[in-house]
Amino acid sequence: MIESNLNNLWKELPPDVKLVAVSKYYPVEAIQRAYDAGQKVFAESRPQDFAAKVQVLPKDIEWHFIGHLQTNKLKLVLPYAALVQSVDTRHLLDEIEKWGKANDRVTDILLEIHIGAEQTKQGFAEEEALEILFNADKFPHVRFRGLMAMATNTDDQDVIDADFERIDTFMAYLKDLFPELEAFDQLSIGMSGDYKIALRHGATMVRIGTAIFAE
Ligand SMILES: *Cc1c(COP(=O)(O)O)cnc(C)c1O
Repeated sequence: MIESNLNNLWKELPPDVKLVAVSKYYPVEAIQRAYDAGQKVFAESRPQDFAAKVQVLPKDIEWHFIGHLQTNKLKLVLPYAALVQSVDTRHLLDEIEKWGKANDRVTDILLEIHIGAEQTKQGFAEEEALEILFNADKFPHVRFRGLMAMATNTDDQDVIDADFERIDTFMAYLKDLFPELEAFDQLSIGMSGDYKIALRHGATMVRIGTAIFAE
């Protein structure tokens, strides 16, 4: 199942789109199966689970963090994360910079942008992200790699389409405005239910859990 799900996704995704397997609800055995089938990029959303799984799974896995990251949990995540996709507050960004300075490490991050209709959804407003990127040189231990977003949680394809269209446009605008940020080229949009729409709107990474591990 996991193997055939992965095979179908690999066939379907363009070669320049990275498949991030979201393993947050699944045990290490399931992750190991996906790894043995050839999947090498995984994402977790809870610091404790992230740290525990990193310890026991193969060392060449590329781990991403995609959940809420409290600043008192940084040391569980930052030493092992190739990419923190869910930087959603200025405070968190400041603390990642501080940690990087203290540990002589540069952390790759995505700014999570609020695009969905839900009030509760985390993420920066576009103006906040702009403000941060205008001050990117204040974060020498952070490498800004791009944006992450979640569409409105709805079955209405037009709403999802509009959400992704908007983030795609914003991404293009930022790349234009900040050509000096050479590594700023990643747009992480699309999950199991909406990745096909995300592919039409410039996704360079899709984050897929259910469609790999549960179906
Ligand atoms: C859980 C999660 C996903 C994966 O969702 P699926 O619907 O299982 O594919 C993607 N992104 C984030 C931020 C998540 O928390």
